[in-house]
Amino acid sequence: MNNDTMTTIGICGGGTMGAGIALNCLQAGYTVFLYDSFAQAQERCIAFLQQNLDKAVKKKLITQESADAAFSRFTFTQTLTDLKPCELVIEAIIEEQAPKQTLFSALEDIVPQSTLIASNTSSISITALAASLRHPERFIGMHFFNPPHVMKLVEVIAGKRTSPEAVLTVVELCKKLGRTPAIAKDVPGFIVNRVARNYYLEAMRITSEGGASVEQVDVLMRSAGFKMGPFELVDLIGVDTNYAVTLSVWEQYFREPRFAPALVQKEYVDAGLHGRKTGEGFYKYDKPIDK
Ligand code: NAD
Repeated sequence: MNNDTMTTIGICGGGTMGAGIALNCLQAGYTVFLYDSFAQAQERCIAFLQQNLDKAVKKKLITQESADAAFSRFTFTQTLTDLKPCELVIEAIIEEQAPKQTLFSALEDIVPQSTLIASNTSSISITALAASLRHPERFIGMHFFNPPHVMKLVEVIAGKRTSPEAVLTVVELCKKLGRTPAIAKDVPGFIVNRVARNYYLEAMRITSEGGASVEQVDVLMRSAGFKMGPFELVDLIGVDTNYAVTLSVWEQYFREPRFAPALVQKEYVDAGLHGRKTGEGFYKYDKPIDK
């Protein structure tokens, strides 16, 4: 697929990342079909898009006309076949290999062979995800950061069988989306999530040992120059997503102890305290979605 002719992008998963990626694509002029298997995602996505487009108009970053035009190019669907016209599909469903692969197999039966399929996975091997595809050469990692319509960086990851053309197209697309693409190797967690594991895990260990409080760690890490403390960042990411990424990196490095999950992560996940998206994680929030 050539970048210059691309008009239509599909997104799978309308959660923390999918909705923000949709906003980014809409504002860059693309038509977007967002597929989510859960009906509740529709209201959430539409509210998110409207709030953020309104905010951009109020700040005079865009005109009311371009906000309306962007919104008119958006379609939410619970029917995967609606993604048939998409020239690129970006997957942003839960961080688990099996559901992602089931989705990719279903997609391959729907979209033309020229359609690129990208995963926003934070940690799962692109080569492994592509293993079940008939055309692994069109499969690639496109790892946005949270919130995706704000954060510029996108890690672009080629799997063992990804074609150089797919890499080139996605790199150019990132630029059209106003993002900064960085080519990363297909190693567990890629670059940022591999290095960031210890930011979260050490923070959880020191609080579990009674060495510091959650608030103390966040305030001090911010004072030391980090933009966000580890706990507020985990709440923004989603405690469940962060835990899934930790598990995935640990498993892929053959359970190396330095990547081992912290017990407190599982406790919060089991309790449904998933951070901002549920209204409570390590901190409490006024409204479930606060971005
Ligand atoms: P999320 O839990 O906020 O949203 C996931 C969405 O996918 C939900 O709307 C859910 O209804 C939908 N979904 C789940 N299973 C589905 C299926 N089988 N088919 C269709 N829709 C399905 O998750 P998220 O935080 O947006 O993460 C999505 C992906 O993006 C993960 O792979 C994650 O690792 C990655 N990611 C997350 C962050 C982050 O900060 N949250 C950053 C970068 C990458």
